[in-house]
Amino acid sequence: MPKFVTTPDGKKVVTLIPGDGIGPECVEAAQRIIDAAGVKVEWEVRHAGESVFKQGVPSGVPQETIDSIKKTRLVLKGPLGTPVGYGEKSANVTLRKLFETYANIRPVRELPGVPTPYSGRGIDLVVVRENVEDLYAGIEHMQTPGVAQCLKLISRKGCEKIVRMAFEFARSEGRKSVACATKSNIMKMTEGMLKRTFEEIAKEYPDIQSWHVIVDNCCHQLVKKPEQFDVIVTTNMNGDIMSDLTSALVGGLGFAPSANLGSDCAIFEAVHGSAPKYAGKNVINPTAVIGSAVLMLRYMGEFAAASTIEHAMLVTMAEGKVPTGDVVGYDSPKAATTTAYTDEIIKNFGKLSTTFKVRDVKPIKMPEVSTALDTVKVAKRRVIGMDLFIESAELPAAIGPDLEKLLEGTPLKLKMMSNRGTQVYPDKGTMIDCIDQHRCRMLARAADADLSDTEMLAVAQKLAVRVRWAHIEKLQEFDGQPSFTKAQGED
Ligand code: NAP
Repeated sequence: MPKFVTTPDGKKVVTLIPGDGIGPECVEAAQRIIDAAGVKVEWEVRHAGESVFKQGVPSGVPQETIDSIKKTRLVLKGPLGTPVGYGEKSANVTLRKLFETYANIRPVRELPGVPTPYSGRGIDLVVVRENVEDLYAGIEHMQTPGVAQCLKLISRKGCEKIVRMAFEFARSEGRKSVACATKSNIMKMTEGMLKRTFEEIAKEYPDIQSWHVIVDNCCHQLVKKPEQFDVIVTTNMNGDIMSDLTSALVGGLGFAPSANLGSDCAIFEAVHGSAPKYAGKNVINPTAVIGSAVLMLRYMGEFAAASTIEHAMLVTMAEGKVPTGDVVGYDSPKAATTTAYTDEIIKNFGKLSTTFKVRDVKPIKMPEVSTALDTVKVAKRRVIGMDLFIESAELPAAIGPDLEKLLEGTPLKLKMMSNRGTQVYPDKGTMIDCIDQHRCRMLARAADADLSDTEMLAVAQKLAVRVRWAHIEKLQEFDGQPSFTKAQGED
């Protein structure tokens, strides 16, 4: 159990971030419900997101918010708006990364009174999304003025943590299977690392069925036969997209809660964003944030209050007296306000949902994570070449021969050049639409070479008289296995 901060009169201190757009309305609903359930909480209100960007804080997360979370380790937050495609980084992602909340747990289940094309099929699944690595590590560069690159960074330690969390979460909820969804058929090193780690760690959980599914088929299966899934563990971007999809299966984003869990900190928030068009109208569905609060209460050990709230929510939905606009249409005379819906849940405290069960949840056994810097050791390693990424407005047929000439007398020879991952030199008679960024793959002339940095830098410097280079990637062998993939069409 994590250590919580408690006030002298026994209240647990929780950092509360109202957020942007519809955030404050949803968070207020959740806060009222927790208080009405009698849980002793001291709310420490802090801010992040759009309002903070506007104050000139480039990260969107001010120091006082960081200090509060560092102290409480427990956050209930509303969605934060992020400028799309330009400007600052997402304050949401920043918060998740600053506190190493490496697992994002996103449950969805069929709900009473919320008709969908899947009603009656008993959807009840959880997406466990890796939360801090992958393309969301946020390492992007403009390699040339016209070529952008984003690094997909996946670590062995990150995979191990998220896989263990998925199995531990499955156990805590008495779930029967964990599927691992990856694109390892294409990205054999990055997505493949999650698949390999999953298959290894699954052996430690023989009580839980485990299987791998390619992520595109997983989405197909989710739409076709969602009831076959229980827990799905996946990489960050896959999980982001898939969990919006899964929320739509049960009625939409208004119903999808989430928990960002780390070893020392937890942030609870809806899957949805700030939906600015509904901001301040008191019409949105607060269920996702209330559901996130239920997850938070269970994390705090407040199991009875969590069950009371969940039962009351299910009863409110089943009775259908105060449906939210996303269910019956915002123009419908039946559409309730956010406030009326919240009041009704509080009124229904003490009633039990008979048709829709509330899970018997046990405390999750958090994976043990060493804070030591993680190093995967290999017995043998050597550098056998380098990929030099260059910027050139010339075609490969013009650059290649010049580079070959310049490489004479050096320890490296040009094996091939590729353009966006496909071999273009030597020309194989293919039809490739080249851009101005090329990869020049050079391998050591000597079969047993272990190239030094000095040798490689000397080569890069020599080639720089002919081409402008952007970056170098070492080509290595770890225990005899290449640390790099071939280009498309490379033999
Ligand atoms: P969004 O805010 O999630 O809204 C998309 C749509 O989902 C809404 O237009 C609405 O659908 C529905 N929806 C969302 N929340 C709802 C609720 N509580 N009740 C009922 N319906 C709800 O996604 P977005 O428009 O792409 O993003 C807006 C901003 O939020 C962006 O700045 C984005 O970066 C940010 N964002 C933040 C988070 C976060 O804080 N964790 C997550 C995602 C996005 P209808 O239009 O069909 O009614």
